[in-house]
Amino acid sequence: MSLYTDIINAQNAEHAEHTDVHKYITDLYCIKQAELRRKYGSEFKGNHFTLMGNLIHKGIQETVKGYKSEIPITIGDLHGRADMVKDDTLYEIKYSPFGNQKNNDLYLLQASMYAHALDVSNVELLMLSGLNNYSVNIGGKTIEEYYQKAMSIFKDNTYPTMEAKCKYCEYKGIHCFR
Ligand code: SF4
Repeated sequence: MSLYTDIINAQNAEHAEHTDVHKYITDLYCIKQAELRRKYGSEFKGNHFTLMGNLIHKGIQETVKGYKSEIPITIGDLHGRADMVKDDTLYEIKYSPFGNQKNNDLYLLQASMYAHALDVSNVELLMLSGLNNYSVNIGGKTIEEYYQKAMSIFKDNTYPTMEAKCKYCEYKGIHCFR
């Protein structure tokens, strides 16, 4: 055992969606991986990216006052937690060590589902990296469009995939050959 192992185990206990059989809004990052997790279980124990991301979330949520944090969301049989909400804006915090922007659309799908469930009319992605920090804002009609698109992914069982997920996927080459 080490402090690193203890931290990873503690954060995995808090974020059960890495390993359990329920359905999550974040499953839209790879519907196939979520199906495989429910079918075969998961040995995933987090990595340095999830560690940094979770510590950054916690640090921001505990430091900034006047926001509601970790708000539970249920849409049908899908579950999730919104990072932060204040007034009429939902904030989703994303950490990428390399400032990668190519997943922003998937993040907006996720955040729009939260905003729709909470009847909040603005979404701001707070993108943090070691290189640059910036915000992506959407509102009103665009949230509705993203929400509808996200719901169609779950309904039609389509497979959008976040490329970075494949890199660390425990099912790659075992149960998935995409
Ligand atoms: S290898 Fe990629 S496409 Fe296949 S289940 Fe894993 S994340 Fe999804």
